[in-house]
Amino acid sequence: MDATTTFTCPYCETELSIPDSLWYTTCDQCRHHLDLKSQFAFLRGLDAFSEGQNLFQKVNPKKRMRRQFFLTTDRDALDLFRQAYSSLQVAFLSELEPNQRLLGVEMMTSMTQEFQLRLMVSPVEAQYWNTLMIEHTAQVEYDRLSQKLSQPASGLLEQIKYWRWTGRQKTLLQSLKKLDAKLESLEKAIEFTDPPKARNKTWKPKST
Ligand SMILES: [Zn+2]
Repeated sequence: MDATTTFTCPYCETELSIPDSLWYTTCDQCRHHLDLKSQFAFLRGLDAFSEGQNLFQKVNPKKRMRRQFFLTTDRDALDLFRQAYSSLQVAFLSELEPNQRLLGVEMMTSMTQEFQLRLMVSPVEAQYWNTLMIEHTAQVEYDRLSQKLSQPASGLLEQIKYWRWTGRQKTLLQSLKKLDAKLESLEKAIEFTDPPKARNKTWKPKST
């Protein structure tokens, strides 16, 4: 019989027992289709990123004076980030659960910033992940405003706030349109073999 690995479904948190030979499965509980290669790569990426980040935090400015400590720790942390970066690239080849996707984008943004300081990544690639983060933030703000606008306005003061929020939503939509075009041109400039599935392609402005 196949050896099994315990795996927690990212959608419903059910513990699944997965034969090691399987690369795809469907969750018994929520019926989500799971690409295990991508899921395990995500988990490896998350582990390596967390470990790398802990090491970077140990390099405080006082310790930077002790050059040897700084150099070794910095190198180890960068190795972990490189591992995390390539694992997450594999993870992004498949659709991730929405919270995983966001966490993945946050990790990629943070790592590319660190790599950029050391000229280890192309500026367009760093810009790509940073722009994805900005796009996500704008979508969250838009949705939050839609939520507020769905409550009935009471009184003139509320009405004024509503006008302001509606105006802000219009600005956000214009920015999102520009970000969309920017991301498409960055994807072309980077020449991904397979562009990462890192964007929330299903996002649409909710009508209020
Ligand atoms: Zn599930």
